[in-house]
Amino acid sequence: MTPFTYSRARDTTEAIRLGAADCAKYLGGGTNLIDLMRETVERPTALVDVTGLSTLIEESDDGGLLIGAAAKNSAVAENLAVRQRYPVLAKAILAGASAQIRNMATVGGNILQRTRCTYFYDEDGSRCNKRTPGQGCDAIDGFNRIHAILGASSACVATHPSDMCVALAALDATVHLQGPGGARSIPLTAFHTLPGERPQIETVLQPGELITAIALPAPAAAARSSYRKVRDRASYAFALISVAAVLDVEDGAVKDVRVALGGVAPKPWRAHKAEGLLRGGPATERAFMAAAEAELADAAPLHGNGFKVELVKRTITAVLSALAGEVA
Ligand SMILES: Cc1cc2nc3c(=O)[nH]c(=O)nc-3n(C[C@H](O)[C@H](O)[C@H](O)COP(=O)(O)OP(=O)(O)OC[C@H]3O[C@@H](n4cnc5c(N)ncnc54)[C@H](O)[C@@H]3O)c2cc1C
Ligand code: SF4
Repeated sequence: MTPFTYSRARDTTEAIRLGAADCAKYLGGGTNLIDLMRETVERPTALVDVTGLSTLIEESDDGGLLIGAAAKNSAVAENLAVRQRYPVLAKAILAGASAQIRNMATVGGNILQRTRCTYFYDEDGSRCNKRTPGQGCDAIDGFNRIHAILGASSACVATHPSDMCVALAALDATVHLQGPGGARSIPLTAFHTLPGERPQIETVLQPGELITAIALPAPAAAARSSYRKVRDRASYAFALISVAAVLDVEDGAVKDVRVALGGVAPKPWRAHKAEGLLRGGPATERAFMAAAEAELADAAPLHGNGFKVELVKRTITAVLSALAGEVA
């Protein structure tokens, strides 16, 4: 492991000052970063612990919810407002990792956790463009059962592993950032980037920028939401695929719908095509399947993950049908 210094920030200003050092990294619960440091995939020389920053989960003036970036995943999932008004978020978090890891992991760290592509973690034995730009990608012809079918490139086919982020994408969450250049806010759906020729760049975060909070807009009164994760084991496994959905049905027609997919792309994948087809149309199983077919029309499966295409279509249909049944 590369030697590093450790400091604990007392507030956001101090965190940003310390985080401006060369090769500094912010430290949340450490459940991903420390593993990557042990494997020497990440080599920060300064760790700035940000777990002492805001853990607040509070209603905002517009009726939405503001969640501090240092809030633990378990605290968010247990929060009453989250459980009652954003069940998709509570379900997604509880579908991830284990109780012990959720007790350590923070919201900021979850958003910035890195792919679980095994070649990425294998510093000594595998080629990986994300870890070492220009080196090649051993996943493309290798074991790629868990890899992407949408949004990938010839440089990298890794998926974003977070369950929580899939729910945040469906909820139209906003990420609040603060850095040496000031504060800004961007939609979560625009926060993660697709790999293109530069898979080492995964987000729009600038050097030294800190995630300070997540904002959720107020949910529509009649909307229902849910999360379904399909995985190899019932617990302690990352998603093969997952679906987060928010559905608002009025008189049998789709008034509003938001669908996000996990385990299929290098970022939480918002299913805009499917949503566009569904809005204003009938809330029926047939319409849900037709929309899912349209969303997956451009899927480009690898030799090991063709099964994901049908699995995603069926899971979108099942989740939306169940929500429509709840609303009817
Ligand atoms: C065995 C195991 C199983 C898991 N299973 C799942 C699963 O099924 N589903 C799932 O979604 N996840 C799963 N995870 C991943 C887990 O959710 C993440 O490791 C966790 O959310 C990361 O949060 P953290 O606070 O520990 O981040 P850290 O490890 O501390 O940091 C991760 C990254 O975020 C950066 N960072 C942290 N906070 C901030 C901030 N405020 N601003 C800017 N940068 C920041 C760090 O610099 C680092 O780059 C699993 C992890 C393990 C070890
Ligand atoms: S898929 Fe991406 S992360 Fe995995 S080996 Fe290829 S370049 Fe690396």
